[in-house]
Amino acid sequence: MDTSFPERPTVTLIEGDGIGPEIAAATLRVIDAAGGRITWEPQVAGMTAAEKVGDPLPAATIESIKRNQLALKGPLGTPIGGGFRSVNVTLRQQFDLYANVRPTKTIPGVPTRFDNVDIVLVRENTEDLYAGVEHYVDPRRTAAESIAIITRFGSERICVYAFEYARRHGRKKVTLVHKANILKMTNGLFLDVGREVAKRYPDIEFDDMIVDATAMKLVVAPERFDVIVTMNLFGDILSDLIAGLVGGLGVAPAANLGGGVDAGAAVDPSLPSARGCAIFEAVHGTAPDIAGKGLANPSGLLLSSVMLLEHIGQVEAAERVRRGVFAALRDPSTRTRDLGGKTDTRGFSDAVIAAMG
Ligand code: NAD
Repeated sequence: MDTSFPERPTVTLIEGDGIGPEIAAATLRVIDAAGGRITWEPQVAGMTAAEKVGDPLPAATIESIKRNQLALKGPLGTPIGGGFRSVNVTLRQQFDLYANVRPTKTIPGVPTRFDNVDIVLVRENTEDLYAGVEHYVDPRRTAAESIAIITRFGSERICVYAFEYARRHGRKKVTLVHKANILKMTNGLFLDVGREVAKRYPDIEFDDMIVDATAMKLVVAPERFDVIVTMNLFGDILSDLIAGLVGGLGVAPAANLGGGVDAGAAVDPSLPSARGCAIFEAVHGTAPDIAGKGLANPSGLLLSSVMLLEHIGQVEAAERVRRGVFAALRDPSTRTRDLGGKTDTRGFSDAVIAAMG
C-alpha cells in the first residue's frame, strides 16, 4: 500500500474491446458505490482504437498513462498470426511493467474441484519469448525463428520482487518455475539468479520446479504452492491454469507493475521510476463469443480494481468491493452464466453493491 497518492488520483481508463465496455461500466458503478475516490480519464486502445483513430495504441493514451502512472484496463483484442503487435505486450514494455502479479484464492461458495487454493503468481512481463524477436527464415515462410531473451537484470528484479512480495504479505515460500533441464542457458540463467536471490531471504523457503511437473502438481495438489515466480511464457500459461482452479478466467485479477525495487533502469528515463507505473487488468480476454450480450462476469476486473484501490491506499473501498464480489459469487442466484448462474452483468453488479454493506 502506498499512502502518498493524492486524495483523489486520476486513473487512465481503457474500457477495451469485446466485453470490455460492459465490465468496465459495471466496475465503475461498483467503485463509486464503494466510496472509491478516483477521477477517470477515458482513453482508447486495441481494436476499438484501430477502428476509431487508425492506431491501436494512440499517442494520447500513452501520454495519459505516462501522466497518471495508473491505469485500469479492459481486455484488448490482438489479431492472430498477423496484423498489429499485441497492445498489452507493447504497454508492458513501454512502461517497463516488469512484474505481472496474479493472486488467486479460493472464493468461498464458488463450486470448484479444490477449496484450498491460495497462490500468487509473479510473472516476468518484459522478456523471454515475448520480447517479440522473431522472423521467417525465408520469403516462402518455410520456417520461422523466435528468440527468448532472458537477462540477469530482468531475472534478478523479478525474483527480488517475488521475495519482497512474500515478505510484505506474510507468505512462507517462493517456488521458481523453469525448464532449465532443456533450455540450459536462458532458463538456466533465470534459475541461477533465482537461487542467488533466495540466499538473501533466509526467512522465506525456496524451491524450484520444472514447468511440466508444475502443471501436473497444480492440478493435483495446489495447496503445496504459495508464491510462484516464473518467466513470461510459462507465467502466461500457468496463470490461466491457476485461474481455472478457483472458478475460471471470469474471476481472475492481475496487476502489471513497474518501479519498486531495482527499478533504476526504466526503459523510458522520463518516467518517474521510484514508484513506477501500474496497470490493472482482468486476466481474461475480450470474450468475443459473449460480447455485447450483457452476459460477462465482471468479477475479474472488479477484483483488479480492488488491487488498484489497495495500491492507491483506499483500503476501505477496496475491502467493500471485495466483500461485495465474494458475496455475489457465493450466492448461486446472483452468479453469471460462466459460473452456472443466470444473472447478467448489470444484475451481478447490482448484487455486489447490495452486498457491500
Ligand atoms: P478469452 O479470455 O477472451 O475467452 C475464453 C473463454 O472464456 C470464452 O469462452 C469467453 O466467453 C470466456 N470468458 C472470458 N472472460 C469472461 C468473463 N469475464 N465472463 C464470462 N466469460 C468469460 O480468450 P480468447 O478467446 O482466447 O481471446 C479473445 C481475444 O482476447 C484475443 O484477441 C486475445 O488476444 C485477447 N486477449 C486479451 C487479453 C488482455 O487484454 N489482457 C488477455 C487474453 C486474451
